This record gives sequence, structure tokens and C-alpha cells, in this order.
Amino acid sequence: AVAVTDLHKSFGGTPVLRGVDLSVARGSVTCVIGPSGSGKSTLLRCLNHLEKPDHGEIEVDGVLVGYRRHRGKLYELKEKVIAGQRASIGMVFQGFHLFGHLTVLENVIEAPVGVLGVPRGEAVESAAALIARVGLAGREGAYPRQLSGGQQQRVAIARALAMRPKVMLFDEPTSALDPELVGEVLEVMKDLAADGMTMIVVTHEIGFARSVADTVVFLDEGSVVESGPPGVVLDAPRHVRTREFLARVR
Ligand code: ATP
Ligand code: MG
Repeated sequence: AVAVTDLHKSFGGTPVLRGVDLSVARGSVTCVIGPSGSGKSTLLRCLNHLEKPDHGEIEVDGVLVGYRRHRGKLYELKEKVIAGQRASIGMVFQGFHLFGHLTVLENVIEAPVGVLGVPRGEAVESAAALIARVGLAGREGAYPRQLSGGQQQRVAIARALAMRPKVMLFDEPTSALDPELVGEVLEVMKDLAADGMTMIVVTHEIGFARSVADTVVFLDEGSVVESGPPGVVLDAPRHVRTREFLARVR
């Protein structure tokens, strides 16, 4: 589960997150929608402490991210400890961020072997299962440039899963793809959700949000304007800003 409390973040004096609260139950899917510049990516980056919040708390499975509490005060953890926390939070970006000089298999085993110290043989075995799970069995030896964008993004998902994350964060994972490749990536994400993965997905795919999300969060100007089940937020939004946004993206 993920719990965000009163998260604030500014860049150069400009507030980007203005007191965001978010609660994501274990095994549930939250889709975050909102206009460009509303703070969606910043929110995800704060969740794994790629951005340091100015104020507020983030807990993943009951563990404070980036800080420890001592006598009611927060102290930032050492970078090494934070890196360990980050390893348990999977992140998939808009771009594919694969290592171009490594094969599919090598991309997927790189972090479990390098960061977690999983024995290579064991890592190869689980990687093969993950590569099959994202529909790429047989392509273990391919290099990223030999794959389509959709296939590369599926490898990126397998690579994140190889770290056995407690939660998976997706930042517009299909928005850089040719339209005909979007579906295959959304299918893999749908399967993951059905398997009970806790997921936070920033997306413009309203159809995906409607069919997969347990909760849809509409973020605007750094605040949660509205959040609730997709049937409410997407189909009967209470706020005029949500309605206006949806009218623009549909
Ligand atoms: P998009 O839909 O375009 O991806 P977003 O909702 O993800 O937008 P963010 O990327 O979180 O928005 O950015 C929110 C605001 O914060 C923007 O105005 C952006 O320019 C600013 N911002 C983000 N990161 C930084 C940074 N590292 N330094 C300065 N400003 C930043
Ligand atoms: Mg963004």
C-alpha cells in the first residue's frame, strides 16, 4: 500500500505540488490524470525520492520513504538506504530507458544481479519467466534497437518487475508509442493489475483508466481536485475542472 500525506514540492519558488494526499490500497490500481504541468510526474518522482519533497510524508507498505522519524522529527536517510528503498518501487517511464548495449535478458537481470546480488543462474531463470510474461519469450537475445517501441516498453516492465517491487509506478508508459503499439503495452499492464500488483499509473488513456483503475485521481495545478471510482470521476465528475479536462482529452 502507498500513503501520501500533505505532499508539497516547489521548484525555484514555484509550487508544483500543493498538499497532495493519496492512498493506494495494496493490490489496487490508481490512475492519475491531469493537464500538462499539473505535477503528475513530480508526484511519481517524489514517491521514490527521485525528487525530495519540501513537506509531507510518503509511506510504502508502512515504511517511510526517504526519511526516518526520531522523536517526532524527520531525518533524511543516507543515499545508500534510499537506493535500497527505491529498488522496491518499480518505475516505468514514457521513454524506454533500456541499456542499448545489453540484450533483453541482460537488461532484465542487470539490477537483480547488480543491486540485489541474486546469483546469475537464478536471475536468468526468473528473467526468462518475466520475459515470457510480457509476451517476449524467444527474444531474450535481441538488442533494444531490434525491437519495436511496444516491445521495448514491455521489456522495461519486465526489468522493473525483476526487482520484485512492492508497487509499480508508470509515467505515461504509452504516450511515446505509435498508436498501433499502445494496446499490447496496456494489455501487459492489465494482466499485472489482475495479478494483484499495486500500481499507480499516470496516463492519458481514459479507456484504460475506466476499465482497470480502482481509483482515478484528477490532479490540477498541484492539487487533487477529485478522486474516486472511474464511474464517478470519468463519467459523472463532480467538479467543473474535471469536466473541462475530460472534454479536452476525449
Ligand atoms: P506532463 O503531462 O507534461 O508530463 P506533469 O503533470 O507530469 O506534465 P510535471 O512534470 O510534474 O508535470 O511538472 C510540473 C511543473 O513543475 C512544470 O511546470 C514543470 O516545468 C516543473 N518542473 C518539473 N520538474 C522540474 C525541475 N526539475 N526543475 C524545475 N521545474 C520543474
Ligand atoms: Mg509528466
